[in-house]
Amino acid sequence: MNTTGLKRNYTPDTYKREHNEWEVVIGMEVHAQVVSQSKLFSGARTVFGSEPNSQASFIDAAFPGMLPVVNSFCVDQAIKTGLGLNAVINLESRFDRKNYFYPDLPAGYQISQFYSPIVGPGWVNVHLDELRTFSLRINHIHLEQDAGKSFHDQHPDKSYIDLNRAGIALMEIVTEPDMRSKEEAAAFLKTLRTILRYLGTCDGNMEEGSLRADVNISVRQPGATLGTRVEVKNINSSRFTEQAIEFEVFRQIEIIESGGRVDQETRLFDSISGKTRSMRSKEDAQDYRYMPDPDLPPLILNLDRIERIQNSLPELPDMKLERLQKDYGLPYHDAALIASDREIAAYYEECLNTESKKHEGKVSGDKAKMIANWFIGDLFAYLNKANLELKESKITPAHLSELVNLIYNGTISGKIAKEVFDLVWSSGESPSKVVKNQGMQQITDSSAIEAAIAKVIEQNQDKVQEYQSGKEKLFGFFVGQVMKETDGKANPQMVNEFLKNKLSAG
Ligand code: ADP
Ligand code: MG
Repeated sequence: MNTTGLKRNYTPDTYKREHNEWEVVIGMEVHAQVVSQSKLFSGARTVFGSEPNSQASFIDAAFPGMLPVVNSFCVDQAIKTGLGLNAVINLESRFDRKNYFYPDLPAGYQISQFYSPIVGPGWVNVHLDELRTFSLRINHIHLEQDAGKSFHDQHPDKSYIDLNRAGIALMEIVTEPDMRSKEEAAAFLKTLRTILRYLGTCDGNMEEGSLRADVNISVRQPGATLGTRVEVKNINSSRFTEQAIEFEVFRQIEIIESGGRVDQETRLFDSISGKTRSMRSKEDAQDYRYMPDPDLPPLILNLDRIERIQNSLPELPDMKLERLQKDYGLPYHDAALIASDREIAAYYEECLNTESKKHEGKVSGDKAKMIANWFIGDLFAYLNKANLELKESKITPAHLSELVNLIYNGTISGKIAKEVFDLVWSSGESPSKVVKNQGMQQITDSSAIEAAIAKVIEQNQDKVQEYQSGKEKLFGFFVGQVMKETDGKANPQMVNEFLKNKLSAG
């Protein structure tokens, strides 16, 4: 299925030790909570942070006699995710029971897809930076239910259970062991998150646990067969992924080089110490006694449904990144930042739309770059400082595009534009209105500029003499004085030109 052929356009680093060289091999199982108003097999709501057990139906609580019915919206979401990851959609898939006992799993089993998942093999392209790109293979995606949550710290001798999360749809996205460094693993997780958010199939909120990864790590000498892997469970950030891999790589190399063998086990990452510790070994692994769920018929999809979803896919980040660079000549760094989030991209493209409407469908590369600078430079800095989200900004895309045009056509200078920006930010008024109300238009009237120059020269006769006897560095001083005289509003090119003439004329 990997149609790109090229897997990596660079050679990943290895760990060089005194006698050996080690390559790290990483594969991930990512749990992504499906964006859906109701659960995978019940109509209960899924709002995060609700009152405990306020969103648990009899089905989620596994009351006897309850029958699960698959939520077709969640199925559509899984199909969409599969298509977004260039994957095969299986026209027939099945649900299985994974049996185990846990207090927050009232049925005694989790409904999952073990034997035939809804999504088969796919692939995804990941950019590490402007020059380094790799693609990795997706093994499959299956749908399953989330479990509830136990609380052991609310009461001295009781545990509590909240079933709000029980039954929420999860997609488990399983990769092939195709990653070769912690950097690649972190970049993949970020890319996956971006794609899911573009698709609207997972909100990617890692702090709330909507996206969490089990990271499988092994080491081997380059070219050797795969080493024994360790699975580090439930990592919820790219940074922790890197830390866990870093720790594991050295732990495993250490074991092998001192003559030992790596145990295949499940480990937990402690974000405070940055270390992993053993949770259970392969020998303690449970037998889940998987069996087809007799309550659920096979999930049969038809091609029309898949095609309809395919046609509803948005432009994905990779394409957008390429298009922004190609169509507007944006540098990689700008384009990558803009394409990294669907809302950011939508805002920027709305600026371009405003611009294109004003100018008969054309947006020059100059203006696209100017808009990008004001957007990711100035607006982002203001948002960060005020701790606001983009959608809370009083500066709209139309404002930003208008501001750039005011600079471009010479109505205001770049310096005054910063003040205009500040006023638009706090008032929400349009830039042209702010400029008009505050009298901030650039002075392009030559007689006004000449008058200001005459005044500055008159008041600084000593400096004029110094300048004329060769101290040319003083030119900047004169420019500064003229700008001051005009409240910063004089057209800088005109000031430069007139001053030069005036001063050299003597
Ligand atoms: P299981 O189903 O028993 O958990 P899988 O073979 O499906 O095992 O692999 C689970 C995950 O582990 C996958 O993401 C896969 O890429 C990864 N993986 C498998 N073998 C290795 C290995 N030797 N090193 C690192 N990751 C691996
Ligand atoms: Mg597994």
